[in-house]
Amino acid sequence: MNTETLLEIDREHLWHPYTSMDNPLCCYPVESAQGVKITLETGEELIDGMSSWWAAVHGYQHPRLNQAISDQISKMSHVMFGGFTHRPAVELAQRLLKLAPDALEKIFYSDSGSVAVEVSLKMALQYQMSKGREQRTRFATVCNGYHGDTWHAMSVCDPENGMHSIYNNRLAPTFFADAPQVKYGATWDRNDFNSMRSLLEENHQEIAAVILEPVVQGAGGMRFYHPEYLVELEKVCREYDILLIFDEIATGFGRTGKMFALEHAGVVPDIMCLGKAITGGMMSFAATMTTATVASVISEGTPGVMMHGPTFMGNPLACACACASLDLISEDGVLEKVQHIEKILTEGLRHFSEYKMVADVRVLGAIGVIEMKEPVDMALLQASLVRNGVWLRPFGKLVYMMPPYIMTASELQSLIAGVDKTFKEVYKDKI
Ligand SMILES: *Cc1c(COP(=O)(O)O)cnc(C)c1O
Repeated sequence: MNTETLLEIDREHLWHPYTSMDNPLCCYPVESAQGVKITLETGEELIDGMSSWWAAVHGYQHPRLNQAISDQISKMSHVMFGGFTHRPAVELAQRLLKLAPDALEKIFYSDSGSVAVEVSLKMALQYQMSKGREQRTRFATVCNGYHGDTWHAMSVCDPENGMHSIYNNRLAPTFFADAPQVKYGATWDRNDFNSMRSLLEENHQEIAAVILEPVVQGAGGMRFYHPEYLVELEKVCREYDILLIFDEIATGFGRTGKMFALEHAGVVPDIMCLGKAITGGMMSFAATMTTATVASVISEGTPGVMMHGPTFMGNPLACACACASLDLISEDGVLEKVQHIEKILTEGLRHFSEYKMVADVRVLGAIGVIEMKEPVDMALLQASLVRNGVWLRPFGKLVYMMPPYIMTASELQSLIAGVDKTFKEVYKDKI
């Protein structure tokens, strides 16, 4: 099949994320990917600035990850987790326990980030039910959050600017506090927590849990907020026995410069969701971790079991791959690499803030964000980025990058240069 036919069939029959079937955005056919480079069927080689949505942190075709999968596939790629267990699942548990805060010692495996979020919400509901608080059926969160695309996960995403606004009156009603405004690195102002504080004080009898992304709000706006917000939040949650859920699906495993973003605040939640980078972007897999207390309260209630169990729970292939990915993360000096990327991004992106159409430039860990004053024309921008050898996926007003941790300084500089060239091409004199 030639590339043209391939694209024709794709256009005719395949939905892509958040696109129209009748009027789809342009799609680029990938032939292969290696290290930090993605090769298109049309011959172009692109530097990957997205890590395939935060996931491919070790780059593509990492020999250790490939090896782990092929070793495992020669034993079994999958067996059901009901009634069975296996080495990859248990060995992955050992690694997660070592990396995560000590208190989070019970683990639920699932197949994607959204499902890990659903599981966390169900854990919180079952916890409150076990405690006899039948009226605690709702969740609280902050605006600008993003927690996935499945049904209840959508209900805790930002209600307005999130992509789920069209479902609003069909979703479970959630309590939304104002998004944190004090930025990471700025001086903390306790008033920033007022909205959440009064929301919890007034409604705690109805609230099972608060869910939010610690420090970095990802798909809901790429915002970095003050960790002290989480310290305040933890106090109030403890006071009312509202469970605290941290969604670390995007931030986990080093992306923000700490192994988990919660370490910026020194707050340990009752429940933590992990995904994306857990397998190094090789396979879809996720985990929900919680405390012994939450687990035993759930066990003491009716029905006394955690009511969830996906078909591909604990998939051995994904677990084996995750073991290898976490080994690389533990042994590879990942945090130093992220620090190094942070430094280059900070220096390399600084001059963008002088451009007229740029509203803000910010960097945290291996995340670089250029926020524009107006929404970008994604198709136009992306075509130019691809011509300049760069793979980014801007959305709304955001042109952002989160490169694989293995990216070298010179590759990162080419990436930034590609973005700069694109800005000059697309915005010309308006720059
Ligand atoms: C991506 C993401 C999810 C959803 O994960 P999927 O694997 O796409 O289902 C949930 N929460 C956060 C913070 C995310 O970034």
